[in-house]
Amino acid sequence: MEKTDILIIGAGIIGLAIAEELSFKGKNIIIAEKNISFGQETSSRNSEVIHGGMYYPVGTLKAELCINGRRLLYQLCAEKKIPHKKTGKLIIATDKDELLALEAILKQGKINGVEGGRFMTEAEMKKLEPKVSGSAALYSHETGIIDSHRLMDYLLTTAEENGVSIVYDAEVVAIEKNNDGYKATIKNAGESVEIKALIVINCAGLDSDTIASMVGIDILKEKYSLHYCKGQYFRVASKKSKLINHLVYPVPRPKSGGLGIHATPDLAGSLRLGPDDNYLNDRNKDYSVDENKKNDFFRSVVKFIPFLEETDLTPDLSGIRPKLQPKEGEFRDFVIRDEADKGLPGFINLIGIESPGLTASPAIARMVKNIVSGLLN
Ligand SMILES: Cc1cc2nc3c(=O)[nH]c(=O)nc-3n(C[C@H](O)[C@H](O)[C@H](O)COP(=O)(O)OP(=O)(O)OC[C@H]3O[C@@H](n4cnc5c(N)ncnc54)[C@H](O)[C@@H]3O)c2cc1C
Repeated sequence: MEKTDILIIGAGIIGLAIAEELSFKGKNIIIAEKNISFGQETSSRNSEVIHGGMYYPVGTLKAELCINGRRLLYQLCAEKKIPHKKTGKLIIATDKDELLALEAILKQGKINGVEGGRFMTEAEMKKLEPKVSGSAALYSHETGIIDSHRLMDYLLTTAEENGVSIVYDAEVVAIEKNNDGYKATIKNAGESVEIKALIVINCAGLDSDTIASMVGIDILKEKYSLHYCKGQYFRVASKKSKLINHLVYPVPRPKSGGLGIHATPDLAGSLRLGPDDNYLNDRNKDYSVDENKKNDFFRSVVKFIPFLEETDLTPDLSGIRPKLQPKEGEFRDFVIRDEADKGLPGFINLIGIESPGLTASPAIARMVKNIVSGLLN
């Protein structure tokens, strides 16, 4: 049986950021990833937006880790030359009710400590985005976009240089607590292998609740069960993709599963619309994009992006949000904790890491490093 100090389950952005952060501590670290490469699930199926941090309720991990993560991410991108762009973002109000909602978002953003948020009149907004329609806008100066694959590549390369091992085609199928840690059973390339670890870090994204239940946690009682909420994207025809230079968002609907279908320019100069939000009835990871949604997408954005025609849209990709918040349910925060109070010291759960997980990843990694330091001292 192989032994390690730390077993990280999952090589998405969260597992990789944690591996890189911990790799400087001189501990043995193994990452087990069930796919044949890193970042093949949610971490490569998102908007690649570096969020400002205005949307998240005051005092939550989502607010704190988004803002700290965003600052760390811009610093890292500048130092390590990871492609990114601080584009700025406009949230567009098209009527009086939306204007009130924008005021609430701005107020919350200020309390959260988000820099550079301010109101714009229609004339000011038009100076930035002449082709966009609305009566006013909230401008977020700190929002940007990033090449998330290059970020993950950097994190993995650095972690490996510091001695971290990654095993692909390695699905964790069982975990048992024993006297001095945990024994994980892993299906690796058809073989069953066992790894003994002092600390297990569960970064399994859409399957993180299943991993938690493997070690005996009652996920219903603890409210750790995930709901899958699919988000689809459509691509805008290239002849119109340069007509928008900022991220352009609608005002979000209360209690919805996402931030509303928005326009995101990417670093290659394309423009995508999405994601929508559809709670799935089962846990089937179906990433197909429903072409019949084209009209819904068109109708939801044409009021603030009037130059679009339905024929400009073609189906692109989709992703699935691992949500703790049920459909129409109340806000739920990230779960990031050592489960010592459940009799499982050294078992660290990261559950419900939906948006802004990419933005927050460097701050999440630092938070986990602090938890691990407390355990190893
Ligand atoms: C549509 C959409 C748009 C988004 N947009 C943004 C955005 O613009 N900005 C932002 O900040 N965030 C955004 N997010 C959120 C962000 O993408 C996620 O928070 C982040 O990618 C989560 O990373 P992760 O590593 O936790 O999960 P994942 O990337 O899903 O990684 C989990 C890994 O665990 C592996 N795994 C699972 N089970 C096992 C097992 N039993 N054994 C071994 N390995 C296992 C999986 O194969 C996977 O590789 C968006 C999400 C979605 C769905």
